[in-house]
Amino acid sequence: PLNKTSLPSANGTRTTTTLSSNSVLALNTGDPTVFEPFWQKMGDKCDVLIRGSDLMSYYSDKNNVCWFLEPELGDAIKRLHGVVGNAVTDDRHIVLGTGSTQLFQALLYALTAPAASEPDEPVSVVSSAPYYSLYPEMIEILHSGLYKWAGDAYTFNEDGGPYIEVVNSPNNPDGTHREAVVNGDKGKVIYDFAYYWPQYTAITSAADHDIMLFTLSKCTGHAGSRIGWALVKDKDIAEKMTDYIAISSIGVSKESQVRAVKVIGVLCDGCENDGLVESENFFEFSRNLMAKRWQKLREALKHSECFTLSKHPRQHCLFTGEFTKTLPAFAWLKSKEGIEDCNEFLRGLKIAGRGGKAFGVDPIFARVSMLSREDEFNQFIERLVVATKGISNGH
Ligand code: PMP
Repeated sequence: PLNKTSLPSANGTRTTTTLSSNSVLALNTGDPTVFEPFWQKMGDKCDVLIRGSDLMSYYSDKNNVCWFLEPELGDAIKRLHGVVGNAVTDDRHIVLGTGSTQLFQALLYALTAPAASEPDEPVSVVSSAPYYSLYPEMIEILHSGLYKWAGDAYTFNEDGGPYIEVVNSPNNPDGTHREAVVNGDKGKVIYDFAYYWPQYTAITSAADHDIMLFTLSKCTGHAGSRIGWALVKDKDIAEKMTDYIAISSIGVSKESQVRAVKVIGVLCDGCENDGLVESENFFEFSRNLMAKRWQKLREALKHSECFTLSKHPRQHCLFTGEFTKTLPAFAWLKSKEGIEDCNEFLRGLKIAGRGGKAFGVDPIFARVSMLSREDEFNQFIERLVVATKGISNGH
């Protein structure tokens, strides 16, 4: 799904830098390239040296439930949550995945695989709409006999049977804070905290749920390393997840783990030295970037006759110690009367977003990434401004 203008070359730098006014802006995925300038600023601090004889084994720690997790990465993850204060890591197993995408699938297996060989009815999986569009896709791809997608959690009738609710907070696509909405007693809840980091939202408490998912992709922006982790209370669930990952990929790349250790270490050092070297606080840097983008977007749509944006409350953030704005990773646009298909309308402006239907809601909504590189973001704003002017001039 990469836009031609952002295709990376083999060494990771961009092949083309010019964006013509004719090119379609690929803002339909949440590729987090917005954070590249911070890591460029870090220079060689995050370089890692891996020798030919390093990291050759499948194993990292045979005594750990998640035997392919490098102990240094487990420590780095705990340190990161300690520095940010967004999750409790005590008395939990860390299960590592190739992105949290793989962990989500490992959880579907771990929470539904029957103890006996006789399969029961597929377990319903729900999430309140608008929900992350990949949930139904991941659940339905295999037509599994273990679980099935049952749609919007708000309209789900649980009838006393087992179910899984996925809670994504702050929510992709609309940035809202979410809690579980189904009230059954046979439900298991997966908390997807991909965006529960200070650049997007206030850290209001250390999350303390039984099953929580996090990803490096949306925290530091290193989506290409494909590192995600689950914090899981129940040992049996953590073991089953590990079994799933062993069968699907026999673990997670050690090179990626080593890089993640380095990046997380540099990030934490920068936060802990806060005040001494201000600009090395990643979350301060990235919050400022997001705040500037949101300000530009709100300004561009202030008098728009095409779109509206929802408002988010300010909340007290334990990390910054201030009342902070919510700065979601996506703009969730609602088209005004007369525009029935928001995404189609955006396409006319050569902006590729993702339409409301993919998230289980009306096509008057569309999602556009706020995490692109600077030049793409500026083009996005320019095109919105031109559309607004065009309409007010009667074109
Ligand atoms: N959950 C949500 C809500 C997401 O938006 C994403 C990435 N778009 C993921 C999970 C998965 O991220 P990754 O596989 O890169 O860890």
